[in-house]
Amino acid sequence: MAKIVIVGAGFAGHYAALVLQDALKGRGNHEITVISRVPKFTYIPSLVWVGIGQMRAEETQFDLKPVYDKLGINYIHGTVVEVHPDPEDQYVVVNLPNGQTQNVKYDYVLIATGPYLNFPAVEGLGPEKGYTQSICTPPHATEASSKYLELVHKLEKGERAKIIIGTGHGLATCQGAAFEYICNIHNDLVDRGLRDRVELMWLSNEPALGDFGIDGLETKYKGNIFTSEDMVRYVFEQYGIRWEIRSHVRKIEEGKVHTLNLDGEEKEFEFDFAMLIPPFKAQPIKWIDKDGNDITSKVCNPAGFVKVDANYGKPYDELDGPDWPRKYQNPIYKNVFAAGIAFAPPGPLSKPGKAPDGTPIGPTPPRTGYTAELSGKAAALNIVDMIEGREPSHTASMAETPGLCVASMKNKILDGEAATIAIFPVARNRAAYPEYGRDLDNCAAEVGMAGAWFKLFLHYAFLYKLQAKPGWKLIP
Ligand SMILES: Cc1cc2nc3c(=O)[nH]c(=O)nc-3n(C[C@H](O)[C@H](O)[C@H](O)COP(=O)(O)OP(=O)(O)OC[C@H]3O[C@@H](n4cnc5c(N)ncnc54)[C@H](O)[C@@H]3O)c2cc1C
Repeated sequence: MAKIVIVGAGFAGHYAALVLQDALKGRGNHEITVISRVPKFTYIPSLVWVGIGQMRAEETQFDLKPVYDKLGINYIHGTVVEVHPDPEDQYVVVNLPNGQTQNVKYDYVLIATGPYLNFPAVEGLGPEKGYTQSICTPPHATEASSKYLELVHKLEKGERAKIIIGTGHGLATCQGAAFEYICNIHNDLVDRGLRDRVELMWLSNEPALGDFGIDGLETKYKGNIFTSEDMVRYVFEQYGIRWEIRSHVRKIEEGKVHTLNLDGEEKEFEFDFAMLIPPFKAQPIKWIDKDGNDITSKVCNPAGFVKVDANYGKPYDELDGPDWPRKYQNPIYKNVFAAGIAFAPPGPLSKPGKAPDGTPIGPTPPRTGYTAELSGKAAALNIVDMIEGREPSHTASMAETPGLCVASMKNKILDGEAATIAIFPVARNRAAYPEYGRDLDNCAAEVGMAGAWFKLFLHYAFLYKLQAKPGWKLIP
């Protein structure tokens, strides 16, 4: 009997648990335990709508325990703070909500803990100790919505306002979510008849508009090459959104952002409402060897993300598709896997830059919901391989799998709008596609109403699938 522990129940961990349970059904008496700090699954993409008051946070969530009870998966509500990976230990230490600590033994462990939102990296950043909003968690998105609606109230009384949306650090990622948010805000203000009272600005660390942390994309359009930069420029020009890119946020004061850009220019921008995505680092989990030594730096990269089967250490210009991980297995501890945002990428997808004073400015690589699911699934099936005495054989490299991002711009049935961005593969793979690193016949970037319907469909389809309701496996 094998004991499998999954830490984290987001896209990567929760989906891995469903796949694992399904794959191991009728194949021995194995024990799957999911440990999650939060007792609910959140469909994070819809927090964009929560952040402008168009959806309640509860509509993006469901309770994990009833799903796990139905499937015979153990569930522990708690926070993993240590992993003891040596063969004589193999347990995780969990802080329980009642203040007690529990050690949970494993034969295989999957780390799927997502990002730690590193607001402290920038003075004044974030809703808790700073002056900016976030839409990264249900409480943050709910608070962002109430601050946004307060501002709307003032606009209705005739006031004018400045809104800044984007990234709050030179190394932040998740530009796609911020892009959705700024477009939804624009359209909401248009619908309210208030758009002309607001200066709307996009602030980001991207080297070019439409980079999205994936080095942008190219697609074929009527015999020409059309880029995501063209698409975003067109949208921003249509929407009257000004932009300031290639920028790091140095600090934030009440109503003022201080930036530094790749040319070394220091600038200040005033705001009445700002939503800036924080930089990510890994959740604070310590790795301890059998003698009690802290070996976190051996198992993880400097940001704390767990190293897997990637080629680490190459400079950006030499990094290519084959360097991206395929099996999500730790090279030192073969029974340790990491998926979703928790695995250490081999480098950025977008071109990194430095300001003249050496400040790094360039998006770190996103690992989107779909990538998180695919990597969680590959890790789960590789654990099944190992349990049954085989070498891990399942792969889901970001350089071999597609990315699909439907960026909501306006969530309305009759006149909604979304940018549908499809890429294959996510990470450029010049070994396979020498010219662009991607198969342009399978890349697309289109703005339209169909995307808005699809985005809403995805919300319901994912919440259905991830509750393991009848036929869930049919939903990719
Ligand atoms: C506003 C927003 C919109 C987005 N929109 C899209 C989109 O449209 N499409 C898309 O593909 N992606 C989107 N993303 C990105 C997507 O949400 C992430 O890629 C995805 O959530 C990553 O999944 P994950 O499982 O790695 O991490 P998470 O979803 O963050 O899950 C991690 C889980 O681990 C738990 N956890 C953390 N630490 C511990 C611990 N120590 N012990 C126990 N449990 C722990 C957390 O509570 C959480 O449940 C969006 C992100 C944001 C912020």
